[in-house]
Amino acid sequence: MAPSRGRKWQTEAGRTTIRRIVAEKIPEWTGGLHEWQVIIVAWILDGEDVLCVTATGDGKSALFAVPMIVLLEVAKNPAAYPGFANYKKPVALVIAPTKGLAGNIVFELAGLHVPAFACTSDTLADARKAGRNIASEIGSCRWPIVCIDPEHLMEKQWERITDCQLFRDNIAFVSVDEAHLIDDWGAEFRPQFRNIGNFIRGRLPPHISVSALTATLMPGISTSTVCKSLGFQQGMFHMYRRSNERPNVQFNLLPLTHTLGGEEFPDLIKYLLSNRKAIIYCATIELCWRVYIFLLRLLPPGPRRLIRVRLYHAMCWPDENERTVALMRDDPMCQIIVATVAFGQGFNVRTLLDSIQQAGRVGRDLSMTGRAVVLVQKAAYSSAEKYLASGGSASRAPTKTSKSLTTMNNEKAMMLTNKGCFIAFFNKLFGNNTPGSTLDCIALPRRLPCSACLPRFSGSLAFEPSPLPSGPERLRPFSVPQPQPTTAAAYRPKNSRLTRKMRSAADAELRKFGLQVQKLERDYNIYGCTPASSYLSNPIITALLDNLLIIWTRDVLVTKIPHWKHHERHGEALYALIQSLQIEFAATFEATRLEKNKQARKKRRAAAGKDEISDDDIDEGENSGSGGDDMEDAVEEATLLMHRHPQNVFVRAVSH
Ligand SMILES: [Zn+2]
Repeated sequence: MAPSRGRKWQTEAGRTTIRRIVAEKIPEWTGGLHEWQVIIVAWILDGEDVLCVTATGDGKSALFAVPMIVLLEVAKNPAAYPGFANYKKPVALVIAPTKGLAGNIVFELAGLHVPAFACTSDTLADARKAGRNIASEIGSCRWPIVCIDPEHLMEKQWERITDCQLFRDNIAFVSVDEAHLIDDWGAEFRPQFRNIGNFIRGRLPPHISVSALTATLMPGISTSTVCKSLGFQQGMFHMYRRSNERPNVQFNLLPLTHTLGGEEFPDLIKYLLSNRKAIIYCATIELCWRVYIFLLRLLPPGPRRLIRVRLYHAMCWPDENERTVALMRDDPMCQIIVATVAFGQGFNVRTLLDSIQQAGRVGRDLSMTGRAVVLVQKAAYSSAEKYLASGGSASRAPTKTSKSLTTMNNEKAMMLTNKGCFIAFFNKLFGNNTPGSTLDCIALPRRLPCSACLPRFSGSLAFEPSPLPSGPERLRPFSVPQPQPTTAAAYRPKNSRLTRKMRSAADAELRKFGLQVQKLERDYNIYGCTPASSYLSNPIITALLDNLLIIWTRDVLVTKIPHWKHHERHGEALYALIQSLQIEFAATFEATRLEKNKQARKKRRAAAGKDEISDDDIDEGENSGSGGDDMEDAVEEATLLMHRHPQNVFVRAVSH
């Protein structure tokens, strides 16, 4: 029989008991639970339904781990907790969207001494081979927590499991992780998300708690879709909406300076040079491969590079994907994962960093800073403008192959056309209303201003150095391969020279920079007036202009002007100036290239007898062979990023 409702956990005594059990069972959480976590845990233990929206990395997994830790403790020592409901073999379901996430949850729970089972195609196949009967193992409450995706939950064997009396007596709660996917994916991509609620309400006892956890559920239609689907009725559940702003992640939304159809992705390099761990998300498996091979080619030969950069997607062997997750978590040499979006859906890299750094408090550690970069193909911007101008009718219907990742929607279009602060924009979108949430990063001010506010920011944007240990195997920095001259007539790499106009603009900027250095150095100068030209002499300016487009790192800068005396104090600023010039010029080169293509296309069409061509035709064509859908994927990518987990560097690639 299911335990009768006993004392309420949502009382001062109940909450104190929860805190005490956590302090005893998880001493490594030196700061204990946050107050809001204690409140939600008490609701769950009382069998109430909860919708919790809070930032990724805020400690959502504690909301299913802690109730189970408490229930296991009560089951073990019922006499010590008189009056509280006692499940003899407590069990809970955690519904997770991907097997990667399910595996990660099981791993996290193991660290908290909570046995759990990830019910995925891989583990089920293994069990079959070993002659085990998983349904009867789950039905007999062998694992306190079972992680499962919606598709497996709908399998026939779950009818047997949920008919099993022992299971019915001991099921205490269900948590739906990444619950926004009921809205995002449930309509078309993975319809079983919309059946989670039917399963819970139809097949499980009515007294259990159902909690929906997410970082990215927008108020309005999305929220009401999720509530309706899970059977949350007005006034009968607790809504707990915390701000999902992440002050320790610097957000960037930037245009790609290259296309995605090629073999080189230089935009990624500057984010990877610091050796901080990074995950690069790509829209397609094919793009993952090209990015992966590009990065491999930049590394010194040898087996270590296969550890340093890893691939993760649905076409990799499951063992290989698991190994990648383990390497990212445990091996300091593993720096980069190139992955499809499936990897990121709920994958908690925060946990990995916590486990590396032994962080003391559950949830967000504000002392660590991460960076999120969304690189968007330029065509996506014009597509967004067209979408808004057409009042939303320019949206393309989702195609079967790319599922829900191809539609432009209002939020994506607004984000791409947003001219102000991105963080303020997201806060409005998600209904975050902490004080100052709608102010821009400079007015508030935020410690890590977004890319829209960055030009007005006068402080320094400090990211800790790589957390990876130094030592004999210290990671070597990436270097961008330079084409080698093959003949005496110096081989000139494409776009390695500035146009006359660019050269003169860069020359002016560099001279301005010389004046700045002169000003800053005045205090050190004890010999009276020294001309600006002595701080950045003509030969140095010429060397910089000759090499401007191939100075990809500080090291290259030093090799190009080895005799400049101010590398130490002003090298960083000079490099920053060079980078900004490179970005500006790359945009010009790209525009010129597109214009040339356009003209060539016009000519071809004219020759073929076709009349006028519209701009639409051009936009479609400039997706560099990657197909029209890719451009829209990029926009989706950008939107998905909003709720990703913090990690050290988080380059969200790269669609167009
Ligand atoms: Zn901002």
